[in-house]
Amino acid sequence: MGYILQALLLAASATRVLGSCSYGTFLQPRAEDGAVPISTFGYFGAKGPLNWAALEVPANSACATGTRQSPINMVAGVFNLVAATDLVIEVPNFPEGTEFENLGSTVEVIAKGGKLAFAGKEFELEQFHFHLPSEHLDNGTSQAMEMHMVWQSATKEIAVIGVYIEIAKEGAAAAPAAVAAPAAAAPAREVVAGAPGAEVVPPGVVVAVGEGPARRRRFQQRRQAAPARGPTTLLETIFSVADQIKVPGTKTKTPPLVLTEVVDILKSGAFQGYSGSLTTPPCSEGVNWNVATAKLSILPATFERVRNIIGFNSRIPQNTPGLPNIVQVGGAAAMAALVATK
Ligand SMILES: [Zn+2]
Repeated sequence: MGYILQALLLAASATRVLGSCSYGTFLQPRAEDGAVPISTFGYFGAKGPLNWAALEVPANSACATGTRQSPINMVAGVFNLVAATDLVIEVPNFPEGTEFENLGSTVEVIAKGGKLAFAGKEFELEQFHFHLPSEHLDNGTSQAMEMHMVWQSATKEIAVIGVYIEIAKEGAAAAPAAVAAPAAAAPAREVVAGAPGAEVVPPGVVVAVGEGPARRRRFQQRRQAAPARGPTTLLETIFSVADQIKVPGTKTKTPPLVLTEVVDILKSGAFQGYSGSLTTPPCSEGVNWNVATAKLSILPATFERVRNIIGFNSRIPQNTPGLPNIVQVGGAAAMAALVATK
């Protein structure tokens, strides 16, 4: 852990809980009484990303001075492509469901346990939450949403797996079985196959992914051929109760969740790894990012419903890692413009 991150952690621990992407980690532990705090930062106006550093001084200083800030435009040269086989991802299922809360700045699923291991480091899952639209840009293109799976290590490092969420094609919208199927009823190693490739799969048909290498290979080839797919059962299941947490500061319980579906999807692609930051205050750096190339998807109607609850919660893309913070760059430019007009 770098000196800067250590310093920021000390600063962050002395301030009040904001509720953010790091909520539920050592940076911002959950309230012991189970209360759901409402974030004190926002995404526009004076509470927006350009002014995050001023909301809590000096805890949020990295938001305006850090030179490895997230999110970024994921183009060749800024990330290391990591094969899925180089990451160990194990996540628990939640047959009894788990807590789903509205922090004001995001909606978050508490999902403790599991293991993420790469490059000799090991992390444990704490929660996952959603941004709308995506925070990272996929080679210059924003996606409908982005899911952040937040992990922490015993040595207090943070790792985040970012997963783009796209809107399922119209044809997939007529897949009632995929939506209605309760996650509990789905065996652990099943995925919903809507339009995974050349092979035509009727809407709503659930294709089991076997353990055999041939079957696995066939599935991977189909995914690479056409990334668009039917709605991800995990997302449809979680968002089926989103209306119960319309109000910031409220929480509910999800139906049973099967996370192995998402792990299978993630492992069918690769990961774009880089060292960045939290995308919310305190914008701490030293965060191990792995953005998945495989995407999840949701039905158009589900996207609309979630959009009406989340609104907009995406930090503007930051400068290329290693270059000056864009807030400083913009501030200096603004000052120069002011001087020039006097
Ligand atoms: Zn996040």
